Amino acid sequence: MTEADSSSALESLLLTRPLSDPELMAASGTVPDYAVLPDVSVLKIGGQSLIDRGRVAVYPLVQELAAIKRSHKILIGTGGGTRARHVYALAAELGLPTGVLTGVGAAVAAQNAQMLGSLMARHGVPVVGGGAFDAVALYLAECGAAIFSGMPSYDMWQPVPAEGVIPPYRTDAGCYLVAEVYGARQMIFVKDEDGLYTANPKTDPSAELIERITIDELIGLDLPDLIIERPVLELMRHARHVKSVQVINGLRPGLISRALRGEHVGTIIATA
Ligand code: ADP
Ligand code: MG
Repeated sequence: MTEADSSSALESLLLTRPLSDPELMAASGTVPDYAVLPDVSVLKIGGQSLIDRGRVAVYPLVQELAAIKRSHKILIGTGGGTRARHVYALAAELGLPTGVLTGVGAAVAAQNAQMLGSLMARHGVPVVGGGAFDAVALYLAECGAAIFSGMPSYDMWQPVPAEGVIPPYRTDAGCYLVAEVYGARQMIFVKDEDGLYTANPKTDPSAELIERITIDELIGLDLPDLIIERPVLELMRHARHVKSVQVINGLRPGLISRALRGEHVGTIIATA
């Protein structure tokens, strides 16, 4: 089929079939997905795991990120952390819905972006958000890095979880979605452990590091707790671009640069 044939076939399907029609859905995906920012790497800087530790963790990260941006284009997303948990507890106790919790949680991640942005301002790194995200390509071309608040902008329209009111898609999911939607080169979660373990290493001393695992294997293990938000695994199942992510320890100097160079320095979680 020529390109003209396939676009007229899609058009006639769109005019005559429901949007959920399998043939229509398949026809809409015949053109290869276009990567918008294929040479950009997305980093998530943990809220609870790193930013909440204050200067001892954050100052070295600022130095490392400032050095890295000379050789790599990086989009830096921020987590929320303990203050977000506090506001979730308060809002849930008040009986407020998931959409409201999303908004107040997003405000905390945005505060972390603002603080990191102020620390990185002297290195020329801007904070982007809302409409300014449309100019992110310019910021990256000019200075090699930009900071964003990791919470996905579902606002009041956050999907409601099966149980309770905690927003299921938080800052791990938000950063992953930025990487996937922009067709980024890679997604690296920077936290405070060497990677994914068989259990939370902070509470289970027998936990063992898993260096590499597929989504199916990880879901099959049914671990009691994970180092990334569980819904990220489901998002990755439908990935067009970012089919593997790496979780690394941001308390160990130099690991971010090594991960960006493609080294395996933490846990790699991949679709296959
Ligand atoms: P962030 O700061 O990005 O929000 P979190 O604090 O939510 O990160 O997640 C990182 C934490 O997850 C680690 O500090 C660790 O204590 C915990 N954790 C839970 N389960 C695991 C696991 N299976 N492997 C490694 N870490 C885990
Ligand atoms: Mg978290």
